[in-house]
Amino acid sequence: MALPDSAASLLVPAPVGKLAIERFEPLIGEQAYRRLQDRFARARELLGDHVMWHVNSTARGGGVAEMLHSLLAYGRGAGLDERWLAIAGTAPFFAVTKRLHNNLHGAPGDGLPLDAEAREVYESFTRAAGEELAARLSPGDVVLLHDPQSAGMVPALAGLGVPVVWRSHVGIDHATPVARRAWEFLRGYVRQADAYVFSRRQHVWDDLAPAKTALIAPSIDAFSAKNQDLPDDRVTAILAAAGVQDTPSAGDPVFTRLDGSAGRVGRRARMTETRRLRPDDAVVLQVSRWDRLKDPLGVIDGFVRYVLPSTDAHLVLAGPSVEEVADDPEGGDVLDEAMACFATLPSRVQEHVHLATLPMADLEENAAIVNALQRRAQVVVQKSIAEGFGLTVAEAMWKARAVVAGRIGGIQDQIENGRTGCLVDALDPAAFGSAVTDLLTDPVRAAELGEQARLQVRREFLGTRSFLQYIALYERLVTGRGVPAEVSFPPGYA
Ligand code: UDP
Repeated sequence: MALPDSAASLLVPAPVGKLAIERFEPLIGEQAYRRLQDRFARARELLGDHVMWHVNSTARGGGVAEMLHSLLAYGRGAGLDERWLAIAGTAPFFAVTKRLHNNLHGAPGDGLPLDAEAREVYESFTRAAGEELAARLSPGDVVLLHDPQSAGMVPALAGLGVPVVWRSHVGIDHATPVARRAWEFLRGYVRQADAYVFSRRQHVWDDLAPAKTALIAPSIDAFSAKNQDLPDDRVTAILAAAGVQDTPSAGDPVFTRLDGSAGRVGRRARMTETRRLRPDDAVVLQVSRWDRLKDPLGVIDGFVRYVLPSTDAHLVLAGPSVEEVADDPEGGDVLDEAMACFATLPSRVQEHVHLATLPMADLEENAAIVNALQRRAQVVVQKSIAEGFGLTVAEAMWKARAVVAGRIGGIQDQIENGRTGCLVDALDPAAFGSAVTDLLTDPVRAAELGEQARLQVRREFLGTRSFLQYIALYERLVTGRGVPAEVSFPPGYA
């Protein structure tokens, strides 16, 4: 396979900020905050001057990048030397890894096989990337490799005396033959790691040693541009500045960046629509990458056939501008499919459907637009066909939105059906549509679900819980006490 020129680095440093964990105290209470401080102190003692390396496939777009930006910055703020490298993959490499990603979720993806040729593309790249990282390690460091894209780096790193963790953010609840074949492709690499982390028990492959396997669910950052509180007038101002909604005399479209400085939304979304959204329109929103597993066509179909006939709501499907998400070669095609679907709708239906591609030049600006959209929506949906976790669900729940989502993957760990949101059969557009319609027509119930949803996220899905779990895992690894099957955390930690 053609690797980039041999002098070029296969691993590109991604920027890691520095954030103070103190800001969590008002959110989680004094006792939980003290515990967090103690645990970080222990991590500092164990890590000393050594480095915690994270490798994934992109610093921009998708849930893993979203989480790493925050988690690593707080770790660094707490005195840990956290570093992040993103794989500078070639197009053939990312074609294979996207196939792996799709296949691990049971989907055919590009339909090509994971054969010897695919392995050669994958292995030659990841081996070289592994060797590149190995040359930068010193004893006492620790390595966390995220997702299938980096699993092939494990063999080059195993045996160096540095703990290597493989963290899978993807998975399937009931393995299909396609998913199993993808796992067979990866497992020889993965099994050489010192520990494996999955988001939920159902995603753990049965041929992995339980003693080396840990469960850590993803989490959100309550203070990021994506999730910070925004008053209603700011939501309106941001949506107007981004060109998503018509609002005469909107206010200042500002938000607070993670480093505390002020940001301002100035770039505009590219809208596919025949009529601009208005302030009094009821909005049903799905935010996701342009990926068939997020089922954008199914969302449009369910909305048009089962929501629109009995409401006058508007559907907003929002995702990143596709040019700028390097590791996702299918994004452009999927967006084209959604636009083609839009083009076939009758004009009175088109008036109720809005496709938004959001600017990605400034990730925090993009996040502020997503934040405003989620707060603007009456109902947030995530009709994915497969989902490792589904951060967009936790994000909407944190904003006290009523969420309707597919009963699959990690979404089931977030939503308790009927109490903190609605779960529906992801392949049943009528059930999806009727759950959305019920919530649109019963705002009191929608508000109740939203309130419970916010409490649920506060209890279980804030970054503070992730810190405790990662530190516990790290402590086990370096003190040689093995990996707990479930990295537990005390109730009331947050
Ligand atoms: N996202 C974003 N901008 C977009 C579309 C998505 O910031 O235009 C974010 C979204 O808010 C969430 C992440 O990308 O934080 C997607 O994570 P999720 O776990 O839902 O899905 P993944 O993309 O990892 O499959």
